[in-house]
This record gives sequence, structure tokens and C-alpha cells, in this order.
Amino acid sequence: MSIIFGPVNSRRFGKSLGVDLSPNVKQCNFDCLYCELKSAKVVDTQSDTVPVEEIISQIKSALIEHKDIDALTLTANGEPTLYPHLNQLIDKINEIKGGVKTLILSNGSTIADPKIQEALAKLNTVKLSLDCASKECFKKLDRPGKSVDLEQIKKGMLAFKKRYSGNLIIEILFVKGINDSKKEIEQLNSFLKELKPARVDIGTIDRPPAFDVKPLSYSEIYKISLQFDPALNIAIAAKHTGSQAKFSYTKEQILQTLKRRPLTKDDIEALFDDNSKIYLKELINKNKITTKISANIEFYTAI
Ligand code: SF4
Repeated sequence: MSIIFGPVNSRRFGKSLGVDLSPNVKQCNFDCLYCELKSAKVVDTQSDTVPVEEIISQIKSALIEHKDIDALTLTANGEPTLYPHLNQLIDKINEIKGGVKTLILSNGSTIADPKIQEALAKLNTVKLSLDCASKECFKKLDRPGKSVDLEQIKKGMLAFKKRYSGNLIIEILFVKGINDSKKEIEQLNSFLKELKPARVDIGTIDRPPAFDVKPLSYSEIYKISLQFDPALNIAIAAKHTGSQAKFSYTKEQILQTLKRRPLTKDDIEALFDDNSKIYLKELINKNKITTKISANIEFYTAI
């Protein structure tokens, strides 16, 4: 049973080792239409549980083997916060991790639970999913178990944000015809304006899902990004294809675009043609555009 996987390289977190808190079987309280894992019964608690000592022992060996690791990512074949000894595990990880950063990738379902908040507050980065702001959409797309309540999740996120000093990142995965309507995005935007996370990652399906649901194109995701409040740091996580037509911007258009929404390096690569990139450099040299880092991602923004 391998609890540790990787390392994987990501620009956001550097070289990261994954820690799977449900290595034997899928255990999740959602049954998302876009899930890449083999379908399994929706559960509220883990019945197949690995002892804390076993996880710590594997992390210790992995850290000896990979001395240049930047981050440990808590994840699961399912939902990692269903792991019943999470608080104790995170305390033990913090004792042995040295300078390595910690993060968790969670579906957000348990964030209203004060015990989960207490545990997650000890991590450097917490990334929670929120695909829908309306109950109908949430039920249709994430298909949660009976004990999961969307309003409680939203309240839990707000309460957690108040007590957490690390990077809170929200992830939204858009699926064609399900959570990409103007109305749904408005509701997400209104909640996120209140929550003020460090960053919002938006993306779409990029691997074959369990059900017949369709991804959005990069341009569609980009258009969605413009519907969010400019104060939110929206990072597009969707892949763009090299064949996609790039835009030709004037300097004024670049400034206007960056006033509406800061763009990441990836966005620039995906959207700007060569001339537009030259204009961007000139605007940076003239101090009309600056960069800021939010939750490890660099954004270009108009001054
Ligand atoms: S929360 Fe993650 S693991 Fe659970 S069903 Fe959704 S995509 Fe799959």
C-alpha cells in the first residue's frame, strides 16, 4: 500500500510529494460528475483507515529519499478530510517536516466542522472546491451525500477564513451546461467577494471523467474569468492548446484588460500574440503595469 506518490513538479508549489489518506479504496462524500476515480458508494466517514504511525513512517522515508522537496500535499482517493485522525496527523507532520510547506486539496464539504478547521488551520495552504453557489447546481454536479449541506459549507468557509492566516484557495471546476450559466457565476462571484480568498483557481475537465460531461474551451473559461470581480485573484488552471488563435492587443486594451482582471503568465502565453507581449514589456518598463504574488502565483496588474 503506497501512501506517498510523486514527487510532482508544479509552478505553484514547487516539487511536491502527495500523501494519499485513503490509499486502498475510494472514500468520498461526493460523487462528482467529473470525477476521474472509479465510482464508489458515497460515504460520510472512512471505514478503511490507515494508522497515523504508518503514514508518518512513509513520509519520513520519503523526505529522506527526496531531500529537495518543497511541499507535502495531503490528498486522497476520495476526500482527505474524512480521515478520522487528521488533527493528530497534521500535528505529527508539522513536527517532522522541517522547512517543507504543507497543503491540502479538499472538496470543502467538512469545513463547517470546528475540528476540521482546527486541523486545517495548521497547514500553509488550504485549497477547497466550490463548484456551485446554488443548491440545485451543487446537487446536480457534485452529487453530495445526504449529510452535506451547501449553506453550511459556505458558512464554514467564511468562519475558517476568519481564523486562518495561511493561503486559502478556492477551486471551481466548470462543466459545460451545468455551472457555467451567468446566474450561477454571479452567485459564485457574490459569495467569493464576501469570502476574499487569496486566490481562485478556475478550470475545466481535462481528463476522462466518470460520466458523459463536457469541458469548456480555454476561451470560454477566459470569458467566465471576466465575469468575476476584478478584486478577486482569478487564476485560470485550464490548459490551452497551441493551435488556439491569440489576440492582438493595443497598449490601451492591455491596460483596460488588466484593470478588469489581473492576468497570470499562463494567461499571457495563452492570450497574447508576440506584438502584444512586446507592448506588455513596454508598459512594465513605463511603470504602468506591475506584478504581485498571491498564493505563490504571479499576476500582472495595471497600476
Ligand atoms: S470530491 Fe473529488 S474524489 Fe470525491 S467524487 Fe468529487 S472529484 Fe471524485
